[in-house]
Amino acid sequence: MSTTTHILLGQTLSFVGDPFLTPLEDAVRFERSGAVALGDGKVLAVGAADDIARPEGAKIVDYGDGLIMAGFVDAHLHYPQTGIIASWGKRLIDWLNSYTFPEEARLADPDYAREIAKRYFDIALSNGTTTSLSYATIHPSSVDAYFTEAQSRGLRALAGKTCMDRNAPDNLRDTAQSAYDDSKALLEKWHNVERLGYAITPRFSPTSTPEQLSALGALWAEHPDCLMQTHISEQHEEIAWVHDLFPDARDYLDTYEAHGLLGARAVYGHAIYLTEREQSRLKEVGAGLVHCPTSNTFIGSGIFETARMKADGQRVGLATDTGGGSSFSMLRTMAAAYELSQLKGQPLHPAQLMWLATCGSADVLHLSDKVGNLAVGMEADLIVLDLASTPAIEQRSRRAGDIWEAVFPTIMMGDDRATKAVWVGGKPARL
Ligand SMILES: [Zn+2]
Repeated sequence: MSTTTHILLGQTLSFVGDPFLTPLEDAVRFERSGAVALGDGKVLAVGAADDIARPEGAKIVDYGDGLIMAGFVDAHLHYPQTGIIASWGKRLIDWLNSYTFPEEARLADPDYAREIAKRYFDIALSNGTTTSLSYATIHPSSVDAYFTEAQSRGLRALAGKTCMDRNAPDNLRDTAQSAYDDSKALLEKWHNVERLGYAITPRFSPTSTPEQLSALGALWAEHPDCLMQTHISEQHEEIAWVHDLFPDARDYLDTYEAHGLLGARAVYGHAIYLTEREQSRLKEVGAGLVHCPTSNTFIGSGIFETARMKADGQRVGLATDTGGGSSFSMLRTMAAAYELSQLKGQPLHPAQLMWLATCGSADVLHLSDKVGNLAVGMEADLIVLDLASTPAIEQRSRRAGDIWEAVFPTIMMGDDRATKAVWVGGKPARL
């Protein structure tokens, strides 16, 4: 029996179903006057404030009208690119060469990698993101920097060494063998240590030889409980390049599948231009797709059809893809997802946006039983949103008729100022 150490009071938002597949009233639990009991790093109770016991000794924290919900889960990002976010111009391949690769080379210096990791987690937490799946650079020390920083903050975090053995600058290339060896050593060092998890990480097919993809596929087969993350079908030029590099492959997904890099624990970023075969194969396997809307507009990639993919039965999460994405904020990312879906005539409900940024991303990372929802037994990674964080938002939310009208202005116009508090593992995080 766990002891309640804290009672948080405020509005509470939980999901009991997927609002893409379930009527709203059956998918969401909302309390206007709610309470959450925390103890031993877990959520012990959630409900109406009057129904939650307040044992002697439990500290009560009253957030007033603050909205208490699960912390955001960012299912795809590149922490090493923190310093080059919002770099002007270019499409994907030029963008990698002009901005990304020179910056990633700087993370060869472990001190610089530690500085960037610290800066990334400071910014992520201030935006209410409590779990991240990141790419590191090719340098093993960049993975150490990320996990060391996450561990010191008690965060649930995932990452992997980015592997590239071709079509990258000399100082950012490994080999098939060293990618395998380094990834294996890092996995053994960090996977399942406290709240950390390792993800085998080939950057994408154009920067890995078939030998490297096979070596990483073999490593994944030896450690099937790890995630495998990579990119797929983000831009037309990229897809044409993959076709040239892998003339025997049926399609882009086949370049992964043929090398053992397709499975339920695969997490594919972007997935905008999938063929029929790719879509049916991904669904059959139960792999995760990650929508990165601010990146897709910023680098001019295209429109991921969230509603159609969900209706089709795909697993979909949401992510910032920083620094290709232009914001660390999952609120801004939800807004971008909404705007892109509008262009396809498929407006997403605020509940669906919130679900994608929490439950959806946690599902793609196979962490649904641990994070991404405010529910009994879940790890207590929570955020409290101020739904009136700026004058413009306040004047709109003031006339809201229900919770969704109150939340939507914060989704569309909110940023880190909306983060009133963050709890990590049942403890208040310093912002
Ligand atoms: Zn990416």
